[in-house]
Amino acid sequence: MKLIYEKSQSGRTAYTLPRYELETPELPEALRRSEPPRLPELAEPELVRHFTELSTRNFGIDTGFYPLGSCTMKYNPRVNERLANLPGFRDLHPLQEEEGAQGALELMWRLQEALVEVSGLHACSLQPAAGSQGELTGLLLMRAYFTERGEHEQRRKIVIPDSAHGTNPASVTMAGYELTPVKTDARGNIDVEDLRAKVDEHTAGLMITNPSTLGLFDEHVEEIARIFHSVGALMYYDGANLNAVCGISRPGDMGFDIIHINLHKTFSQPHGGGGPGGGPIVVRDTLEPFLPVPQIVRDGDTFRLDFDRPKSIGKVRGFTGPFGVFIRSYAFIRMWGPQLKRMSEIAVLNANYLLARLRDAYDLPFDRLCMHEFVVSARSLKREHGAGALDVAKRLMDYGFHPPTVYFPLIVPEALMIEPTETEPKEVLDEFCDALLAIAREAADSPELLKDAPHDRPVRRLDEVRAAKRAIVRYGFEDHPDLGAEPVEPRQLEAQKGA
Ligand SMILES: *Cc1c(COP(=O)(O)O)cnc(C)c1O
Repeated sequence: MKLIYEKSQSGRTAYTLPRYELETPELPEALRRSEPPRLPELAEPELVRHFTELSTRNFGIDTGFYPLGSCTMKYNPRVNERLANLPGFRDLHPLQEEEGAQGALELMWRLQEALVEVSGLHACSLQPAAGSQGELTGLLLMRAYFTERGEHEQRRKIVIPDSAHGTNPASVTMAGYELTPVKTDARGNIDVEDLRAKVDEHTAGLMITNPSTLGLFDEHVEEIARIFHSVGALMYYDGANLNAVCGISRPGDMGFDIIHINLHKTFSQPHGGGGPGGGPIVVRDTLEPFLPVPQIVRDGDTFRLDFDRPKSIGKVRGFTGPFGVFIRSYAFIRMWGPQLKRMSEIAVLNANYLLARLRDAYDLPFDRLCMHEFVVSARSLKREHGAGALDVAKRLMDYGFHPPTVYFPLIVPEALMIEPTETEPKEVLDEFCDALLAIAREAADSPELLKDAPHDRPVRRLDEVRAAKRAIVRYGFEDHPDLGAEPVEPRQLEAQKGA
């Protein structure tokens, strides 16, 4: 496929603007362009065809099964989009006075209430724009809490399991804390003995996700909460895996004090390719005074923004957070209503169905019922036939599926982390299992089929090492001043094998 610059023909335009009648002020010489910008010139139909064709090259949840473990790539109901596009919401200015934005404030307030209910805690801030930003915000609240108690200098350590998502240690470091890693035991739980030895009066808190990134619910979570609370430390819940437990068990009841929720995972937002997302935090009453400003509060029938919170850690994002995300998540929660528990039950059932069908063909690092996702390993395939997790993942693309997460969590060699979500019908789950079972057979009979995969995608397997070491991320304008006349080989293709 050609780049849009290669299709450019000088003089063509896809739009016209009406003539500007008013007098234009002179721009200072220094601010003026010396030459026109190098923009592609196409007529409207060519432009539409270009981007429509590009869109068909994309893989998304609307085109196929996307079992990317940890990311909860569920189908996003169209009604969410319709509501987010209502003119009253869409055209609202972020600086609109409260009086004229009552509906938006009420929606945010109601979303907060729903998240408080789901998490079993006390107060919510919608501001953080992603799970990772929620983590940082939560840790800053922890810091503010201990600072007020005069314990900040003493409590510098945060305990994190070795199965943790990479954002957890990153957030801990950004918030100025020290990491204390803790081991996973043979059943996939946190190793309580290892933990006990590492928790003392210098500990600020624990940060875990439950179910863990192994898709396992920690069987000792109440005991763990006792250990931390007995030394005055706090419990942080990474809510990225909330999809497994909505309406079934609540982080607050498990003993957690602070939680972030990934709206784009559990409560549906189109979130491939980096956003937009939402990472609200919900906290116990003792931490409420430190929440970011403004807080959205209700006074009788009116809603307002409260900036008068002297202990607040301040703002963590512009305005009140990613509003379009709030509309979609609120619509999603209201759509399930009191049945929200069903969502999690189906997600867990789907994952266990896949696990049951795949368990004989792949290695099982922890032989337990899973939650909404699970981890199998291609370790035996690698040892016996030389085809590992990456080869299985690439071959899956030939069968029309998005690969699962691979090589994570780090504690499982040749890991394949699979998350079906609640939105897939049984036929799709079966086709996916059939493909993975067929691939395991291919690994034994003709392993080169896996190692050369994918075979029939627009791009073959990339030389990832070379692409990282010699990253070419910019099209070579300087080499081709006359772009548009001659087709140009995209230089990125140098980094691809066989393309
Ligand atoms: C996705 C995820 C995060 C990070 O969330 P972002 O919204 O991507 O920043 C943190 N922890 C776990 C377990 C996750 O799956």
